[in-house]
Amino acid sequence: MGEPLIISAAICGGEHTRSATPYLPQTPEEIAASAAEASEAGAAIAHVHVWDEHGRPTQDLSYYRQVYRLLGERCDMIINVTTGPGGTPPDDERLSPLELRPELASLDAGSVNFGDGVFINSPRFLRRLAKTMAASGTKPELEIFDTAMIENCLRLNAEGLLAEPLYFQFVLGVPGGAPANARTLIHLVDSLPPGSIWSATGIGRHAVDVAMLTISMGGHVRVGLEDSIYYRHHQLARSNAELVARIARLAAEAERPLASPDQARTILGLPGRSQLALDPSLSTHGPT
Ligand code: ZN
Repeated sequence: MGEPLIISAAICGGEHTRSATPYLPQTPEEIAASAAEASEAGAAIAHVHVWDEHGRPTQDLSYYRQVYRLLGERCDMIINVTTGPGGTPPDDERLSPLELRPELASLDAGSVNFGDGVFINSPRFLRRLAKTMAASGTKPELEIFDTAMIENCLRLNAEGLLAEPLYFQFVLGVPGGAPANARTLIHLVDSLPPGSIWSATGIGRHAVDVAMLTISMGGHVRVGLEDSIYYRHHQLARSNAELVARIARLAAEAERPLASPDQARTILGLPGRSQLALDPSLSTHGPT
């Protein structure tokens, strides 16, 4: 058998809305239920954004608390909160979920054109983000949209702001970022320092291509409605679990066993399940 494969389910993101697909989970209840189904299908990590009752992405802690409580009641998945919620919120807002001391959080490792917009992550913000994560005991998931972002991470690491093993997430095929193809993926993986852990996702129609390449190259896979609302051409994915289940089947054919959440914690060097998820007092909090 090959090395265990960590599947990250990117549950809803901050870009697609219900007008694009009716299957997008948006309330804390829907997000937790969708993540729990993805866990049943083989995902060890839930990458979470949250939305307010007006259908707008938000970083309001009360929504994250709800997701933690509802998902923690159902399973022991690792929760990976976003610090890039979509739009152009102020830096303080982007950092706010780190107050929950999550096990994992995304660190978008540089600025990039993103569709018709620009996703700004200045060197000053990256340092602040890495320092805040270190203070909250949160491991950064280093999101890489293009090659130069790896260099940005190596600089943060040289400054002592990251802890090894470094965990990279390649997000390929964003218009404005690195393309989703084998040549690019091989170049990115070759550019990592020894001992790094890496995962990849292909946006939109590239989801399966990138997953197959990644499984065969020994990486880990991210998949989900954040990255692709279609299961195949002209057919909307009905759930995150449906997308995760396909990756689980591909992994089985490649003889890569799926990592459980605790195996994923060991691989990523996480100390243990977030105390927050286990804190019964959370049930007294909810969105206001
Ligand atoms: Zn995200």
